[in-house]
Amino acid sequence: MPDYQAILDEIREETRPLLCQGHVADYIPRLAGVPREKFGMAVVTLDGRLYQTGDADEAFSIQSISKVYTLTQALQSIGDRLWQRVGREPSGNAFNSLVQLELENGLPRNPFINAGALVVADVVLGSPPDPRAQLLATVRRCSDNAALRDDPEVASSEQANGFRNAALANFIRSFGNLDHSVHDVLGFYFYQCSLAMSCVDLARGFLFLANQGRCPWSGGNILLPDQTRRINALMLTCGTYDAAGDFAYHVGIPCKSGVGGGIVGVIPKQLAVAVWSPALDAKGNSLAGSAALELFTSKTGLSIF
Ligand code: GLU
Repeated sequence: MPDYQAILDEIREETRPLLCQGHVADYIPRLAGVPREKFGMAVVTLDGRLYQTGDADEAFSIQSISKVYTLTQALQSIGDRLWQRVGREPSGNAFNSLVQLELENGLPRNPFINAGALVVADVVLGSPPDPRAQLLATVRRCSDNAALRDDPEVASSEQANGFRNAALANFIRSFGNLDHSVHDVLGFYFYQCSLAMSCVDLARGFLFLANQGRCPWSGGNILLPDQTRRINALMLTCGTYDAAGDFAYHVGIPCKSGVGGGIVGVIPKQLAVAVWSPALDAKGNSLAGSAALELFTSKTGLSIF
């Protein structure tokens, strides 16, 4: 077995010069003030062993990483019927693009671009009594951290500035692909994006995807093995904005990133790995985080290919 602790410590040193590059997301004002020097990384193996380095215990805004959990919730509630309302192809466009949606009649390309995540949020809102509490319970259960919570200041900061998401939601609704009000869908979406988790939480919280859908902590099934395989496939093809091809090439494992600077990767039947560094590259992926994951798969020799 690779010496994960030594590898994480090496990666932290090797990526240090990158922390001054890229830009922290500032279109959500609350994220703009996060110090760019932060760097954390954590690995949890299927037997529950945890390895971590740097600021791996510090909670940050998971943003789009939450889309994996809401997709999980939607598949739990309506299964494959979801695919009548959202596609499974990479978009090749920015995550918040409006253009493709018009050309494709309000059917978002995949559940990880914002348009797709809004449709998924609409599906999740259809599972009463309390979809927010249910999401939080799932994330807490997967991460085995009962203290995990949302950050209302991040949500209201995005709500006050989320004009593009409002445009997307209105647009989708005009095509009849939202059942709930634009107000409720956006409220839920900003809530999910505001969940705060550390690298340790995320590595633990994604381990069910390396474990055929079974939560290693509670032993319960979160998803069926078949559904788990599909989420991993979507993360590989669509999980890192329109850099997913490059990620498959350089990193070689399913990953999901968020504009808070977090990226989580899954190696089926082996481990989950999470990294956090707030400054982003031009595509919206954590710049040092992407490099760290490439170093991780190179140094360990792990890849799904
Ligand atoms: N809440 C962010 C947005 O909708 C999430 C984007 C992301 O992390 O990709 O713009």
